[in-house]
Amino acid sequence: MKRRNFIAAVTTTAALGGLSACSKATEQCSDTSGTTKQKVIKWKMVTTWPKNFQGLGEGAEFLARIINKMSGGRLQVKVYGSGELVPALQTFDAVSQGTAQMGHGASYYWKGKMPAAPFFTTVPFGLTVSEIQGWLLKGGGYELWRELYKPFGVRPFVAGNTGVQMAGWFNKEIHSLDDIKGLKMRIPGLGGEVLRRAGGTPVLIPGSEVFTALETGAVDAAEWVGPYNDLAMGLYKAAKYYYYPGWHEPGTSAEALVNQQAFDALPEDLQLIVEQACHAASLDMQADFTAKNNASLQVLVEQHQVQLRKLPDDVLIKLREISEQVVTESAQKNELGKRILKSFNSYKKQVRAWNEISEGAYLDSLRLSK
Ligand code: CA
Repeated sequence: MKRRNFIAAVTTTAALGGLSACSKATEQCSDTSGTTKQKVIKWKMVTTWPKNFQGLGEGAEFLARIINKMSGGRLQVKVYGSGELVPALQTFDAVSQGTAQMGHGASYYWKGKMPAAPFFTTVPFGLTVSEIQGWLLKGGGYELWRELYKPFGVRPFVAGNTGVQMAGWFNKEIHSLDDIKGLKMRIPGLGGEVLRRAGGTPVLIPGSEVFTALETGAVDAAEWVGPYNDLAMGLYKAAKYYYYPGWHEPGTSAEALVNQQAFDALPEDLQLIVEQACHAASLDMQADFTAKNNASLQVLVEQHQVQLRKLPDDVLIKLREISEQVVTESAQKNELGKRILKSFNSYKKQVRAWNEISEGAYLDSLRLSK
C-alpha cells in the first residue's frame, strides 16, 4: 500500500496571543491570554469537475459550504476544480494518498482500478435515483461500496444525483436498429460497450471537446448529461435531434470521497456532520437538476426549436438485452464484484416489483385519456 502523506491541517482560529495548549478531547485551545478557542481543521476537496461546473461542480461547492456552516467553522473545506490541484482523473488517488482530505466525483471514473465501481454511480438499465438511494442507504449498497474503497484508505459517501440523463444529441433520426449500425457516438463507459455490441462505434471524447466533435461531424451523435448541462454547452447548435431516455445513465450518483485517516481523526460530531452534509448535498443536487432540467428543456424546445425524439422500442429492447450481458460481465472480475452484482440485482428485482405498482402505475395513470 502506498505510504500516506496525510497531514492533518490543523490550525487555530486567528487570535491575538500565542497558542499554549490544545485538548484533543474537547478540541479547544487556550492561548497565553487565557482565551479559549476552538481548533479549526482545514481540508482540501479536489474534484473531477471544472470549477463551478453546472450542477455537479456547484454540488461540490454546496457540500463544502454546508460542512463549514454546520460545523460552526471548525471544519473548513476548500474546493479545487479539476486541474487546480490535480487533474480530474487523479481525484481518487489524491484522496487515497492524502494530498487532499476530500474529493468529489463519480465512482465510474475508477473502473480501471475497480471494475465494479460503476455500480455506485450508474450502469446501463440500472437503478433510478430513488432506487439507488434505497440500495445504498437501506439495501446493503453502502457497506459494499466501503469495502470496495477500503484497500485504498478512502471512505465513500453519496453526494448527489443528476437524475435520469438524456440519450443524447443526434444528427440523424433513429428509426430502427439499422440506424445504430455504424453510428459514431460519443458515449463513454459501459454504455459505449453496449453501443459497440449493437453495431455502433463508441468514441471517447472528453467533455470539453464534445461540442466540436458533434459540430464538425467527427461523430454522428453524443451524449452529455441532460437539458441543464446540454443547454449550457450549446449542443443544440451542433445537432438537431435530442433523444430520450438516457438508458445508459438512468440515475447518475455523485460521490464524496474522504481520506479514511483524516475521517478517523475527526471527533464524532464532525464525522456525523460530514456524512449528513453529503446526504443533504445529495438531496439538494437532485432538486437542482430536476428544477433546472425542466426549465432548460423548455428553452431548448421553445427558443431553439430542438426536436425531441424517443428511441424506438426495438432499439431500447435490444440495448437492454445487451446491457444485461455487459453489466454482468463487468462485475465478474473478482469475488467482491460478484457480491456487488448479486446485491444490486436482487435489490433491483425487489424494488421494481414495488415501483411498478407505485410510481410506475401512477405515472401511467396520467397518460390515460377519458
Ligand atoms: Ca452522461
